[in-house]
Amino acid sequence: MIMQLDHTHDAACKSWLESADAPGCDFPIQNLPFAVFRRAGTGEAFRGGVAIGDQVVDLGALSRAGLLNGLAGQAAAACAQPALNEFFAMGPAAWRALRHRLFALLESSVFASTTNALRGCLVPQADVEYTVPARIGDYTDFYTSIHHALNVGRLFRPDDPITPNFRWIPIAYHGRVSSIGVSGQKFRRPLGQSMPPGAAAPAYAPCAGLDYELELGIFIGQGNAQGEQIGVDAAQDHIFGICLLNDWSARDIQFWEMAPLGPFLAKNFATTISPWIVTMDALAPYHQAWTRSAQEPQPLAYLESPKVRAEGALDIQLEVWLETAQHRSRGDAAERLTHTSFKHQYWSVAQMVAHHTVGGCNLQAGDLLGSGTISGPGETEAGAIIELTRAGREPLKLANGEQRGFLDDGDAVIFKGWCEKAGHARIGFGENRGEVLPALDSV
Ligand code: CA
Repeated sequence: MIMQLDHTHDAACKSWLESADAPGCDFPIQNLPFAVFRRAGTGEAFRGGVAIGDQVVDLGALSRAGLLNGLAGQAAAACAQPALNEFFAMGPAAWRALRHRLFALLESSVFASTTNALRGCLVPQADVEYTVPARIGDYTDFYTSIHHALNVGRLFRPDDPITPNFRWIPIAYHGRVSSIGVSGQKFRRPLGQSMPPGAAAPAYAPCAGLDYELELGIFIGQGNAQGEQIGVDAAQDHIFGICLLNDWSARDIQFWEMAPLGPFLAKNFATTISPWIVTMDALAPYHQAWTRSAQEPQPLAYLESPKVRAEGALDIQLEVWLETAQHRSRGDAAERLTHTSFKHQYWSVAQMVAHHTVGGCNLQAGDLLGSGTISGPGETEAGAIIELTRAGREPLKLANGEQRGFLDDGDAVIFKGWCEKAGHARIGFGENRGEVLPALDSV
């Protein structure tokens, strides 16, 4: 079955809220992404909200306002909690019922009495703070961009840059949940062991190769029972939505520690996600055909289907921006390092979910999958600084005169994402921002 579009994807529809109709707005009425928020600096309970224009629809207030009933009402009541797991577990019918009801309430032709009631449920985005939107039980980080794998592999193994399994398996490792934070996260540069070139013993010091990884975060909606599989064609119905994810990485620590069991301290000190989750319903117009060239191995049967071929790729535009402490102190604009699209990814989101469960692993509502670093084919499409600077050997020269081989203390890395296509509304993901603080004094 090919992705279904409905009236909520109609680009001609406007909201009565003017800010939602502004050109370039990330949150028009066709988007309606979910977050968990409260008024900043208050002791209010966190609760679910939906973005529209420059406002948040407070789903706790909305569920008490008597504007919803039936399945949409039950869904909004679930969203009034401080984590969205129960809502995720309700499944696609409930997600769609709430989306359709919110669309009807926010659409420009609705009665004035309704807009007046709804205005009482709006909180300006400028006045809120966010938290991680679900209790994340497990976090899995994939490695699914062949351009990233080749760019990094060529730095260290020029004759054999990519392991043979990459072309057959959506490779992943199980990650760390406790250090996942929401946009605005600040974290200390990690300390750890690394093996300097030519040294006889490792050094213990602050990380000297701090990097970001441009990724998408995929939130699981309904899970599966242990011992059962989610087939590649059913995967879409098990995914609630997608956010922007930064898998901060300590490269010098990583290269020393990861043989033979994979990343550990190099990845577990911080992971930053954007607050807004864009739903799979909102992303429906931006699916594309997924292709695998005839020169490459074709997927095994459990990762293959006509549906994957027809719509497995997602055209999500992505940017990486770097804002240094000097940018901030002088009031200069951040500098864009990268612009690419998720459509280049070697493995699709559905294939990641199918592979994750093929051995009987049970996914649960609120589980988070990282897509793996997203790098496109071009020179300016790399999703990590290690690729842009060839492991620091060719530092980036910034417009303000600064140079970077890896990240410095005070650097903030900002991801942006959006989808646009002729005949459809532009929808955005908002921003994912994280900032590097100096390391603790080392012992
Ligand atoms: Ca990663």
